[in-house]
Amino acid sequence: MTRKQTDIVVVGGGMIGLSLATKLAQQGRQVVVLERHDQPELTEELALRVSALNDRSRSVLADCGAWQKIQAHRTGPYNSMQVWDKDSPAHIEFSAVEINAEDIGAIVENNVAEHFLWESAEQAGVEIIQTDSWKLISAGDESSPAEVNVGEQLLSANLIIGADGGRSQVRQFAELPISFWDYEQRGIVANIHTEQPHNGVARQVFLPTGPLALLPTPNSHIVSIVWSADEPLAAQLLSETPERFAKQVETESGRVLGACECVSDIKAFPLRMQYARQWFHQRIVLAGDAAHTIHPLAGQGANLGFGDVSELCKQLQGVDLKALNDLTKHLNAYQRARKADTQVMIAAMELFKRGFGTANPVVKGLRALAFAIPNKFTPLKRKLAEVALGSN
Ligand SMILES: Cc1cc2nc3c(=O)[nH]c(=O)nc-3n(C[C@H](O)[C@H](O)[C@H](O)COP(=O)(O)OP(=O)(O)OC[C@H]3O[C@@H](n4cnc5c(N)ncnc54)[C@H](O)[C@@H]3O)c2cc1C
Repeated sequence: MTRKQTDIVVVGGGMIGLSLATKLAQQGRQVVVLERHDQPELTEELALRVSALNDRSRSVLADCGAWQKIQAHRTGPYNSMQVWDKDSPAHIEFSAVEINAEDIGAIVENNVAEHFLWESAEQAGVEIIQTDSWKLISAGDESSPAEVNVGEQLLSANLIIGADGGRSQVRQFAELPISFWDYEQRGIVANIHTEQPHNGVARQVFLPTGPLALLPTPNSHIVSIVWSADEPLAAQLLSETPERFAKQVETESGRVLGACECVSDIKAFPLRMQYARQWFHQRIVLAGDAAHTIHPLAGQGANLGFGDVSELCKQLQGVDLKALNDLTKHLNAYQRARKADTQVMIAAMELFKRGFGTANPVVKGLRALAFAIPNKFTPLKRKLAEVALGSN
């Protein structure tokens, strides 16, 4: 067995792991990433998994040198949002012009972001090892580093970052406890061709069975849909032909973009809220979905993860990683800041989810009111826009 020493091992080369690795390497750290997949390839076809990224996330990608390339490849910037309730006249609309911004956010295909982040990480000197047969041996302590076995290699590191997604093995090894609940919904994603152009508007309709989002892609007649449907409806939708599925999107969205045609596979993801109650243990710390997964209704999961990237890099700047006392102080500050942001987001998602997932007439009246006020009341609308822009 060969031994290798490094400053930091990042487990997971998704958007969050790769941007952390790049930024930490830019700070002069020696970083190794363990990722089970190869570098995602760029394809002509629009991918199914997309994320609506706010300003803060885009500036993290820009710091990594990836945003410029993602933008040159393809993104779907959106300059206004329309959110309405199927069962009442309640609606909110706001546009970038109202808040003096160029746009509100951009829809980015996850694999496009990962492709260019991979390039940035390698350019910054990060070593990426393609493997899923690694084993954490030790979380380290004051006098010794953490250790991870990768094939015939024993890697020792002063810090291990678990950015390995919702089912994080790093989190399980470190026995970091989580709180969770199942939304009993599935997030159904597909690309839909629409008769009318989307005009760069991100749309979401709240149905009694869950929200349906129509997100603008770089093709003016294709939207990426995320339909968070209660289990029985999800099962029914997934058993439909693509034609009948598209027809349901058309009907439930009130034909807002005219006739719809499905131009991709239809895939589904189980939706579950979970967050780690403790984010670090000894020399192991979590980031991104490994620390929290939330409902996709406001498109904030990856944005929260990019917030983790900024904060963790800020806290680790210039810290002597060998000194566990000092490291712990900074990991504590990271946990405090990010847990607070995550909890606010989870509470907001829950309020939306419970407020809209009901046919109760009192709740329906209240939600109509809740929607009517922000649309008339500019300061509140501005606050909502700030959340969407990531500047709150
Ligand atoms: C339907 C849906 C729609 C969404 N829409 C949005 C949106 O509009 N905006 C938004 O901000 N967020 C959105 N999200 C959330 C967003 O997709 C996630 O928050 C984000 O992808 C998390 O990134 P991550 O890098 O933390 O985790 P992941 O993307 O899960 O990456 C984890 C990486 O770790 C690797 N890995 C895992 N286990 C191992 C192992 N044992 N060994 C080696 N490698 C491993 C995986 O291969 C993967 O590359 C959505 C989520 C869903 C389900």
